[in-house]
Amino acid sequence: MKLDVNVLRYLSREEFRVLTAVEMGQKNHELVPVQLVDSISGLKHGGAFRCLKTLLRHKLVHHEASKYDGYRLTTLGYDFLAIRALTARGHISSVGRQIGVGKESDIFEVLTDEGEVLALKLHRLGRTSFRAVKSKRDYLGKRSSFSWLYLSRLAALKEYAFMKALGEHGFPVPRAVDHNRHAVLMSMLDAAPLVQLRHLDRPRAAYATCMALLYRLAAKGLVHCDFNEFNLMVSRAGGEGLTVIDFPQMVSVGHANARELFERDVDCIVRFFTKKIGYVPQEDEEFDGPLRPSFEAALAEASAAAGDALDVALAASGFKRQHQAALEAAFAEQEGSGSDGDEGEGEGGSGSGEGEEGESGGEEEEGGEGSSGEGEGEGEEEEEEGEAGGSG
Ligand code: ADP
Ligand code: MG
Repeated sequence: MKLDVNVLRYLSREEFRVLTAVEMGQKNHELVPVQLVDSISGLKHGGAFRCLKTLLRHKLVHHEASKYDGYRLTTLGYDFLAIRALTARGHISSVGRQIGVGKESDIFEVLTDEGEVLALKLHRLGRTSFRAVKSKRDYLGKRSSFSWLYLSRLAALKEYAFMKALGEHGFPVPRAVDHNRHAVLMSMLDAAPLVQLRHLDRPRAAYATCMALLYRLAAKGLVHCDFNEFNLMVSRAGGEGLTVIDFPQMVSVGHANARELFERDVDCIVRFFTKKIGYVPQEDEEFDGPLRPSFEAALAEASAAAGDALDVALAASGFKRQHQAALEAAFAEQEGSGSDGDEGEGEGGSGSGEGEEGESGGEEEEGGEGSSGEGEGEGEEEEEEGEAGGSG
């Protein structure tokens, strides 16, 4: 997707106000009628309509008159709201080139006010299989409908919370800087995904590092669930260090399928080293550590250290059990829809981001400009308390 943030500079306060009003209206409207945009934005009469025309021209909103006349945000519109919020906090001064297209995200290089280069991950969960996801409403309890906005926001909230907690516990992950809506801002790695390397100098050591990481994560109460050559970054500067990325799928070791998911992560790495690197893991005098980490041992360690366990710490992050259930349903659908591998999935269709995003009622509070002023609003209005990473 082309993210032309120049437009962002030219949008007026009023136009952003109206864009935010559309977002707020989408909490309980699939399409937000002009009158509602008008009253939420509180602009003098005609003001909202004029702004909507500008927003429409820049493809920040989509207009539809099929069921009834109304507007909704496009992907680009949502991107703008998030980028603007992060800009207002001084974390972004400009957006540069796109550095990655994941299965469920677009990654951009951004510059901070201090001139530091950061990575901005814009989550696109539900982009490719939204219709299928809708059929899984049962997972959502009282939430009658949900959308890519909601799912992508949950994915970002979870990713930020996990990245931050993992970093604080000494795991090699990017530094979590901030998040807003579906966007996560993190340090830029001078690294390439393992999958891009044809050759490893010390495959045995790299393999052992992967296994040790999987074990350490589980011993802290977590299974990555997407631990593979696409999400392990190797420093360009050399050295054996691996950095782990991509956390929206993580689960607690207490999850009903945790063991299976853990073994799947291990198998992914074994397969990659065996088939692609040409290193067949085997016990020899130089191998340091277990060939395959034991889930039982890690689980025992996690239970013994319950007070310190990450998934417990994460419960305080605002990411809750019902969030996890919604995300799991979405990821299950995504998997079922036949997209695998992390690369080259592309746009899923509509360049303008207007194609498959579908309905969007049931959005949670997203206090934008004019309310909390921060556009944060995670975890409120939740009827049920739960644990991060856990479900079932
Ligand atoms: P997805 O969930 O869509 O797979 P990822 O978080 O795995 O998204 O990111 C997709 C790609 O973007 C990665 O494979 C990597 O090449 C690049 N990338 C992601 N985060 C960073 C980062 N912090 N620094 C540098 N490159 C990154
Ligand atoms: Mg990835």
